[in-house]
Amino acid sequence: MNRAVDVLLVGAGGIGHPAALGLAAAGTGSLLIVDDDQVELSNLHRQILFRDEDVGRSKPEALAGALSSRFPALAVTVLPGRILPDTALDRVSRARVVVDATDNFASRFLIADACRIAGVPVVHAAAVKWRATVIAVPAEGRPCYRCLFEDIPREDAPDCATAGVAGPVCGVAGALAADRAMRILAGDASAFGSIVTYDGRGDRLREVRVAARPGCPLCGEGRTITTITPDRYEAYDCS
Ligand SMILES: [Zn+2]
Repeated sequence: MNRAVDVLLVGAGGIGHPAALGLAAAGTGSLLIVDDDQVELSNLHRQILFRDEDVGRSKPEALAGALSSRFPALAVTVLPGRILPDTALDRVSRARVVVDATDNFASRFLIADACRIAGVPVVHAAAVKWRATVIAVPAEGRPCYRCLFEDIPREDAPDCATAGVAGPVCGVAGALAADRAMRILAGDASAFGSIVTYDGRGDRLREVRVAARPGCPLCGEGRTITTITPDRYEAYDCS
């Protein structure tokens, strides 16, 4: 398949900014940004490439503009609108690696499933309150995202959209995501098979190996998730 861009960045928010900055500064050739949100004043403390005058603008457009002005050699394109079940496979198939910098579980699982089905490696980066977590998943092989997190939480599990997050913790998550995406682009498989967590109050950065889960529906034998079925994600607000 023709991978038109080096990196698809899903989410132009607190993690997407440092991730994009790290990728661009490291020489990534092309970046596609997907997001449906608009810049708000309350975003500016952690979405570090936005300025006051960006308030009200499309986030992916404003982020693309900020990157282009700093890195003229970077080919940056934008697809406004959230990633949805009917577009996810198309979106992820465009890239050599996907960086998931979304802020909710439904989008994360949608991206995880779409990347596995399309055969694209993905780096999931999340930050809630003082904790960042980053996991890189190969295009094929094990373990995968669902080996670790199984399924969308049914109860009120905290995510960034509801629980808030410390800005510098987003920076760590984004930097770790960029590091892993660059390694994947370079053909280095060392980032796979572990989850990295950062505790911003305890100054702890930990890497823990992740075991493949027997019976995993996405990567195990007899896997059941082989297509994107919208109702798997739409029961939860995919925002
Ligand atoms: Zn799995």
